[in-house]
Amino acid sequence: MKAARLSEPGGSLEIVDVEIPEPGPGEVRVKIEASGVCHTDLHLRRGDWKEVDGLVKRPLILGHEGIGVIDSIGADVNNRTVGERVGISFLRSSCGTCRRCKAGEENVCAAATTVGMSHDGCHAEYVVALADYVVPVPEGLTSEQAAPLCCAGVTVLGALKRAALSPGDTVAVFGIGGLGHLAVQSAKTMGARVVALDIDEAKLELASALGADEVLKVNDPDLVPRLMAMDLEAVVMTTTSHQAHSVAVATVSPGGKVLLLAVPGEPVPLSAVLAVFKGVALLGQAVGSRRDLIETFELAASGKLLCEVHTRPLEALPEVLDDLAEARVVGRVVLTP
Ligand code: ZN
Ligand code: ZN
Repeated sequence: MKAARLSEPGGSLEIVDVEIPEPGPGEVRVKIEASGVCHTDLHLRRGDWKEVDGLVKRPLILGHEGIGVIDSIGADVNNRTVGERVGISFLRSSCGTCRRCKAGEENVCAAATTVGMSHDGCHAEYVVALADYVVPVPEGLTSEQAAPLCCAGVTVLGALKRAALSPGDTVAVFGIGGLGHLAVQSAKTMGARVVALDIDEAKLELASALGADEVLKVNDPDLVPRLMAMDLEAVVMTTTSHQAHSVAVATVSPGGKVLLLAVPGEPVPLSAVLAVFKGVALLGQAVGSRRDLIETFELAASGKLLCEVHTRPLEALPEVLDDLAEARVVGRVVLTP
């Protein structure tokens, strides 16, 4: 089968021909129909994250926003059937017994493993995943629409749920990319008023089309006072920009929350002094629980979440990552094998 394989973090990325994997006990094999390209793929190709280098499989098939149809089932699988269409997220497995797992927060299990990082991922014709961790995709949602929800969509919904917004709260979303354009819509489903921020005019236009109440360019000279006047209950960081992070704590309301969803390779300027004196909560989030993904799929199937999707062939991954690096992607690119 064709697969997009990275030799090691920071190494070479090639489209290679490898053997179709066989599902082991507890696993299913999924024939991929669509696979979203996440910034994580780019960070891994560049070797940006020294902290997690040791967790990365070598060589590694990238991709953790996979949608496809189960075509083979391993031993001891009773909850999935051949022909079922499922989503595969970044969360490959968790221990199932720790207090996080028992609370339905398996995405923060200390023993969690990952698709497209610790194990081979979805930028391929087939992938093997654990039956208990794939999530059925509702009918009426195309595979291309569903793919970005497996990481971008579930991450923003999971984070916004933790922010416990009340209807009428105002939320600022910094960065209208793959995560940001879904954050705008997810916050709207919670009854929030949403301000979208980016440097790129086309991305701000997309945010308006998707329901943002207000859009602001991040280079607006009055950015900080304008945001401070909005009584922001939450500020959502979906950009790696240091400039954006430098104003996050300053602009959120006292007692508010800063949601950290982007993963810059270097430490970013977040003011501890302001966070202390304003009582601001800093909440980090990567992916979400299976429950969060089910809810994300349901929201999209009911028409409340629309992904701006550009479909490209699997072979285009290296160019797509270059486009991501240069911030040339509006919405999400989805690969089809
Ligand atoms: Zn991702
Ligand atoms: Zn656990």
